Amino acid sequence: MKLEVRDLEKVYASRSGFTHALAPTSFEVSSGEFVCLLGPSGCGKSTTLFAIAGLDEPTRGEILLDGQRVRGPGRDRGMVFQNYTLFPWLNVIDNTRFSFELEANIDRSSTCAEVMTQIGRASALLELMGLSAFERALPRELSGGMKQRVAIARALTNQPKLLLMDEPFGALDSQTREEMQDMMLLLHAHETMTVIFVTHDVEEALYLSTRILVFSPRPGCIVRDLAAPFGMHREPALKLAPEFMRLKRELLDLLRQPRTGDGHHGDRFRKLITETKLPSTP
Ligand code: ADP
Repeated sequence: MKLEVRDLEKVYASRSGFTHALAPTSFEVSSGEFVCLLGPSGCGKSTTLFAIAGLDEPTRGEILLDGQRVRGPGRDRGMVFQNYTLFPWLNVIDNTRFSFELEANIDRSSTCAEVMTQIGRASALLELMGLSAFERALPRELSGGMKQRVAIARALTNQPKLLLMDEPFGALDSQTREEMQDMMLLLHAHETMTVIFVTHDVEEALYLSTRILVFSPRPGCIVRDLAAPFGMHREPALKLAPEFMRLKRELLDLLRQPRTGDGHHGDRFRKLITETKLPSTP
């Protein structure tokens, strides 16, 4: 798997005006990496992730997944959002299988054996996440952390090339959040998957990722590409290690720096407005 993000740039148009969310941004991600997009609120992290997911069109630039241009969503990318996106009327196992069944209905070429494999995979993922006993439970019977585990299992049932996560633990209490972080490390090792994970939490980025892309304030651009110098076996005590705390301080200082070169982006912004699609009026 190879993801190439080339000169991605985004201007949003809304009734209140134009927002230059993302300055030209380029990076590549290879198989097995766990990349965190880290930056202050509103710097274009989700914008970048949504463009990779094919859920939003960039104003300029392009995204290639294994050499193919991303033109919309696809089962090769799984997405997990901050707000739990489960169907309230489906139980846990049906929620987990939902995206596969949707695909299977659209693409009728799926064989019975493939369907059975996917059902087995959904159950195995739920077991890995400690949810076997809740397969028949409805979302309203689950805690926030459990709902988010189901959302992750659902995103993984199609065996996507890339798992995209938009502040997935942002709404959880701190203890559940730590449990979920450890579960993500386990999943990353077990499923040997590639993850792009949006967060504004420096500690979370350092603890989870193999690599951190630090974004400047809006219009966001990458100001640092940091390889996390910790092995893949991580446990909570790492957060107290001197090297971890040193990097945490360094990244916090970096995030506090104001945006520079706004004049240049101001000129660019004026040009980009002419290329920006206006929202359709209802
Ligand atoms: P982040 O994920 O880093 O917090 P976002 O990518 O969500 O930032 O947003 C970047 C900027 O673009 C913010 O100022 C946000 O308000 C603006 N923005 C995001 N989505 C839209 C939209 N659909 N319409 C208008 N402005 C948007």
